[in-house]
Amino acid sequence: MRYTAKLKVKPKSVKDITNGYPLISKDAIENDEEKIEEGSLVQLVDSSNNYIATGYYGIQNKGIGWVLSRKEKEKIDQTFFAKRVREAVEKRAKFYATEDTTAFRVFNGAGDGIGGLTIEFFAGFYVVNWYSEGIYSFREEIYQALNDTADPRGVYEKLRFDKNGQYVDQDDYVSGEKGEFPLIVSENGMSYAVDLNDGAMSGIFLDQRNVRKALRDRYSEGKTVLNTFSYTGAFSVSAALGGATETTSVDLAKRSLPKTIEQFAVNGIDYESQDIKVMNVFDYFRYAERHALKFDVVVLDPPSFARTKKKTFSTSKDYTKLVKNTLKITSDGGLIVASTNTASFNMKKFKTFIDKAFKEMNKRYEIVEEHQLPEDFTVPHNFPEFNYLKVVFIKVLN
Ligand code: SAH
Repeated sequence: MRYTAKLKVKPKSVKDITNGYPLISKDAIENDEEKIEEGSLVQLVDSSNNYIATGYYGIQNKGIGWVLSRKEKEKIDQTFFAKRVREAVEKRAKFYATEDTTAFRVFNGAGDGIGGLTIEFFAGFYVVNWYSEGIYSFREEIYQALNDTADPRGVYEKLRFDKNGQYVDQDDYVSGEKGEFPLIVSENGMSYAVDLNDGAMSGIFLDQRNVRKALRDRYSEGKTVLNTFSYTGAFSVSAALGGATETTSVDLAKRSLPKTIEQFAVNGIDYESQDIKVMNVFDYFRYAERHALKFDVVVLDPPSFARTKKKTFSTSKDYTKLVKNTLKITSDGGLIVASTNTASFNMKKFKTFIDKAFKEMNKRYEIVEEHQLPEDFTVPHNFPEFNYLKVVFIKVLN
């Protein structure tokens, strides 16, 4: 039996939890100084000791755990995990059945009833992401549930809970068939090379699926496309497949060059006719401005926070400036695809950063398309703050 601790919820937070808020945040708890072991089950009670919910203890960012059940009698056991995993798999029936898309998210943390856990599908293989030691203590039950319901070809895992909440470098293979990497997955008919055993990231961010499709289907034909913070060049590939006359991919990570070449190659695109630059995006902006380069489409997808030798960038502080710099190298009538996955501000706030940039540059714009998380990234009902992805397609008017 697991040790069960009682956590007293502060009066101001009781309503959130009873309304379905799944995160147990440190400042919602009265007796948060109590020493509790990771993976303990916790019973949330109000100040009169009335039952509110059952959860597990696991430190992750601002949270100290996640709610698992709101039924006092429900046991957190193999049956519980099997049910949650089965429901999540069933919810993605459409994705499993779609032949031209073979990569998607099967389990999205709190949106599927277990915070701190995500599972992704890549052409038969599964990658399980564990975000705290607490949730990892349930691995046997969860792997059992996955094996029983999804019949994986092979399973890989990412442990994302070192001291700074970062990825723990290890061999990520868990069970089943060992993948041969790069593994090629399809996404709406496009091919992407992934490696499930090569550090924290696989080579593609699945939450941008609909954005890649939109870029290919509606905005690339006959256009020049600049893809900043390009990582493996996934957006460049969709633009090229959509008929872009030329793509330019800019990322400062050295690995982005071979990885981007690989993504073009698996799609039968001659990478030599594309431009791939390993450099700081901010230096590239200066270079492009000096050479009076203009692009029809610019994709902006910076990390929430990045530190380089010269400076730090944070989306909440610097996005306006980023858009202003982009405007200098975007053609009139062109398009800016502005994206961020920062959870600390919402879509409305994000749009104020963009609006400010256009005002300060004396330019008008029209938002032609918006995206947030796709369907397989289930978000807890009524809590839009878990829908962290914000993408706005902005047409630049003269
Ligand atoms: N848009 C990508 C994902 C971007 S991940 C996609 O859809 O696949 C963020 C990337 O930004 C990382 O590859 C990182 O190397 C890069 N990066 C961070 N700071 C940078 C900077 N100042 N200049 C260029 N690239 C940067």
